[in-house]
Amino acid sequence: MNLKTVIGLEIHVQLKTKSKMFCRCDNNAENAAPNSLVCSICMGMPGTLPVANKTAIEWTLKTGLALNSEIAEFSRFDRKHYFYPDLPKGYQISQYDKPFCTGGFLEIDSEGTLKKIGIRRVHLEEDAGKLVHPVGKNFTLVDLNRAGTPLMEIVTEPEIASPSEAKIFIQELRSILRYLDISDADMEKGHLRCDANISIEVDKKEGIPVEIKNMNSFRMVERALLFEEKRQKDLLEKPLNYARGEGEKIIKETRGWDDAKGNTYSQRSKEFAQDYRYFPEPDLPPFAPHKAFNIEQLKQQLPELPAAKRLRYIKIGLPVQDAAIIAIDKSMAQYFEKVVQKVTPRLAANWIINELKSNGILSIAPDNLILLLEKIDKGEISGKISKEILGVMLDTGKKPEEIIVEKGIKQIGSEDELGQIIENIISKNDKSVIDYRAGKKEALGFLVGQVMRETKGQANPQIVNKLLIDKLAKD
Ligand code: ADP
Ligand code: MG
Ligand code: ZN
Repeated sequence: MNLKTVIGLEIHVQLKTKSKMFCRCDNNAENAAPNSLVCSICMGMPGTLPVANKTAIEWTLKTGLALNSEIAEFSRFDRKHYFYPDLPKGYQISQYDKPFCTGGFLEIDSEGTLKKIGIRRVHLEEDAGKLVHPVGKNFTLVDLNRAGTPLMEIVTEPEIASPSEAKIFIQELRSILRYLDISDADMEKGHLRCDANISIEVDKKEGIPVEIKNMNSFRMVERALLFEEKRQKDLLEKPLNYARGEGEKIIKETRGWDDAKGNTYSQRSKEFAQDYRYFPEPDLPPFAPHKAFNIEQLKQQLPELPAAKRLRYIKIGLPVQDAAIIAIDKSMAQYFEKVVQKVTPRLAANWIINELKSNGILSIAPDNLILLLEKIDKGEISGKISKEILGVMLDTGKKPEEIIVEKGIKQIGSEDELGQIIENIISKNDKSVIDYRAGKKEALGFLVGQVMRETKGQANPQIVNKLLIDKLAKD
């Protein structure tokens, strides 16, 4: 039995426009009192009319372009009907058969191999409100601040082959959304929400997709899919006699992820497709994106995306791993690009990843890091001392020069200063000198060590090495 995992994602993204999707209400609900950012439109009062947010549409088109999608010739909004207390109108304005963008792909780096994951569509809709369940109370509250927030939906083809690939896909997508500057895309805060469909193909025969919900972080997506993959494979490999009431079988259903218990659980069956009674939204005219927007110009406005940055970083000399770590993080990439104007790329990347990342990248001004790294680049201070200086920089925000003066750190880099010390060491260590000249190269290491001790580690070992070799060759 040949089992193959098949995963497709439906990802919802809250766009951080100033106002909501179809009204002028403030779209930033963070820390706002419940139901304080609402109006008759987003509360669904009869007789009100929606007006589409142009920026939200533009951002959806930009996302489509970034994902190599086709921009529709003709597009429109549709009403999707269902009843739920957080949906005041009784329908959601969404897009059905005429989404803004169709097709396309996102290329991900799956453990060293590049792989294109197909995109099915990108469309725009409005978010619903939130239900709040006060602990120990027998009632539920409704907060409509989120009702009407622009919500972009990205649907992939079922071409993701493993839970880890699913995680990598969402991480890459999040990075793109941040580069486009259209969403904070924070999964923990619900700006980026992911439903995952997973099935197991048996000997090339299509499996039954199960939809997983309630995953609020990358870690949860991967864990939930790993659990579900195993659950389904076990059921296929060791089928119990379901007819006799033993075990379960895979059915088309929606399952929730319980992070505390570490398992998925059945929420509702999807054996019967829900009828949303879609029909074209009569209050919003359909339109042609190519006429309403300058698509060519939007394309040109796209920033450099993480995949292109990775390639460019590799070209200027970064190891593949370092390039990936920096390019995926917009703020780290911006930081790196400032530093690299003055410092060699490898040194900059090395320090940003190994010394700053764990300490919070923005806690040192890039200009100050440049000052420090330039000294290392020129061999004025050793690696050991520069890390001490960095520690003080992180604590105090001072410039490296200031710290060097305050701490009385001498920069023993000049040949004059070192020359004196080296001569001293040579005259005190006859035996090592004789050994070295007799071909015992390890004697040199000993002499370098002596100089470093004499200078309390403040000399640059490479320079000491070079000066010693010169001197020993001459005398
Ligand atoms: P629906 O219309 O019920 O939402 P779709 O066919 O539109 O279903 O697909 C929704 C999501 O399910 C897409 O992300 C798609 O990639 C995924 N999907 C479709 N078929 C499968 C499958 N056999 N296994 C896993 N995921 C699938
Ligand atoms: Mg769907
Ligand atoms: Zn409103």
